[in-house]
Amino acid sequence: MKFVDVHCHLNHKQFDPDLDAVIDRARQAGVVRMICAGVNPATNREVLALAKKHPDVVRCSLGVYPIDALNIQLFSPDEMGLSHTSNFVLDDELEFIRKNKDLIVAVGEAGLDYKWDEPKKRADEQKKNFVRVIELCEKIKKPLVVHSRRGEADCLALLESSTLRRVDLHCFEGNKKLIKKAIDLGFYFSIPPVIQRLQHFETVVKEASISNLLTETDAPWLSGVVGVRNEPANVANTVKKIAELKGFTVEETANSILLNYKKLFDD
Ligand SMILES: [Zn+2]
Repeated sequence: MKFVDVHCHLNHKQFDPDLDAVIDRARQAGVVRMICAGVNPATNREVLALAKKHPDVVRCSLGVYPIDALNIQLFSPDEMGLSHTSNFVLDDELEFIRKNKDLIVAVGEAGLDYKWDEPKKRADEQKKNFVRVIELCEKIKKPLVVHSRRGEADCLALLESSTLRRVDLHCFEGNKKLIKKAIDLGFYFSIPPVIQRLQHFETVVKEASISNLLTETDAPWLSGVVGVRNEPANVANTVKKIAELKGFTVEETANSILLNYKKLFDD
């Protein structure tokens, strides 16, 4: 069986000691694609290098994380575990993504994040930045992987008023009404392993058709088991869970998700 992880952070420091083993375990588990997502200039360069180093299974998407793009640093790079860029110049980074468009399968992660006070106060700036990213996707004809923490309604509204329809909603926490709206727009939901302990993602799976579903890990985060580092091999568990909820065999489910992957990312 073949599995895909459409959103992970293999450039996270937690993977420094054993990255090759992590990627090997994914290969052994049947994972044929892992999309590493950048969030800022520093990490965008790292994920490009990772994709170049493991061309058989690793792909990358170049991102503009909403908080990083505001030049706000909520956590130290050590706490965060990802490389930080102290002076994020949006114009320069959009140009960098455009120049590298043939080396990437998507743009992202990008979107809106209203979880923390200061970024929330600057919601208008976040929206302006997000629109710039959406416009870039339209121009370079790439799908977008969206991060929409507590800003799901605004994210969908901005996407709806664009022409972009190749969209994956990563770890989507919007309510039923918003789930339905995203389905109507033809967007995909990538389901993380936390589905094993969060009812919300069962709701997403039940509401969406199998043709709207993808799997991700957001590794090292969003693990199915509290306190355990997440890794791409775990997508196999999510596929089992989706199969159970949808009443398909695991193989049928894996095949559908692989097909969805190919359709959205053209890879
Ligand atoms: Zn992520």
